[in-house]
Amino acid sequence: MPRPATSETLPPRRYGGAVRIGAHVRAGGDLVGALERGDAIGADVVQVFTQSPRAWKPTQYSPEVLDSYLAAQSQHPRVTATFCHATYLINLATSDPDLLERSRACLAANLAVARGMGASGLVLHIGSHKGLGFDGCVPQVVAALTEAVATGAAGRDCGSPCPILLENAAGAGGTVGRSFDELAAVLERADLGPELGICLDTQHLWASGIAFASVAEADAVVAHIDATVGLDRLSCIHLNDSKVPFGANRDRHENIGQGTIGSAGLGALLGHPALADVPAILEVPGAGDGPRLEDVAAARHALEVGLALRG
Ligand SMILES: [Zn+2]
Ligand SMILES: [Zn+2]
Repeated sequence: MPRPATSETLPPRRYGGAVRIGAHVRAGGDLVGALERGDAIGADVVQVFTQSPRAWKPTQYSPEVLDSYLAAQSQHPRVTATFCHATYLINLATSDPDLLERSRACLAANLAVARGMGASGLVLHIGSHKGLGFDGCVPQVVAALTEAVATGAAGRDCGSPCPILLENAAGAGGTVGRSFDELAAVLERADLGPELGICLDTQHLWASGIAFASVAEADAVVAHIDATVGLDRLSCIHLNDSKVPFGANRDRHENIGQGTIGSAGLGALLGHPALADVPAILEVPGAGDGPRLEDVAAARHALEVGLALRG
């Protein structure tokens, strides 16, 4: 059988120069349509859910559908990369054995789709431990990540690496990943090399009480990330303003420039020279249906403000 379009036909994953601004786009079972919507709003990178984010039932994509996504991506060269976001129901830190089992299966299914469509990473909220405590949940989190990577490696391979990217948490009720030390501990224990990385969400960072809205604070955060998880592990940023105040420990995204962080605060971080190759993906509400053209423009404006702050 002839090999279909693969990642070899896709544009390079990393490029120097301006920060790539991406957007989460609704897929609803139509991956190519999501890519086209991302392109239409000027996104350099898109993020999609591989299945309904609040249901366990996996969406079954045939190899043909995944191939058509790869082909579509090569036809939309503006979109340089796709990231996937795992299902919100997954909780690898739970003490409930049934929930853990469903979570493990769901993560493996999500990763299989992400790999099949040539994604550059699958973003995951690790989950929340109730009773187990952080140290108590780490072994099962590590086991689940290791299993998902092994299962995914046996599936369809488009030749591009697709790490699981652990996202920092806003810090509500025992969520794992509220600090870079926690994420570093999971990365270190899992020892999965490039199969595991990090996604940094600016709203979660703000809500978890880590300041970055001045150049000095942003520099300190970037240095801290490098000292804990390592900057080479940071594959993408989720660029969101915040509906809730600093340290509020709640996950509430706001449009860029309309929240408690503001354009200059987001820009201070986004303009850091060490983050120039890390795509920044919007997960903002827009007018209620996700990022729009003007949200992508607002993100580019925040970047310009940040670069100006740094002279
Ligand atoms: Zn997330
Ligand atoms: Zn996020």
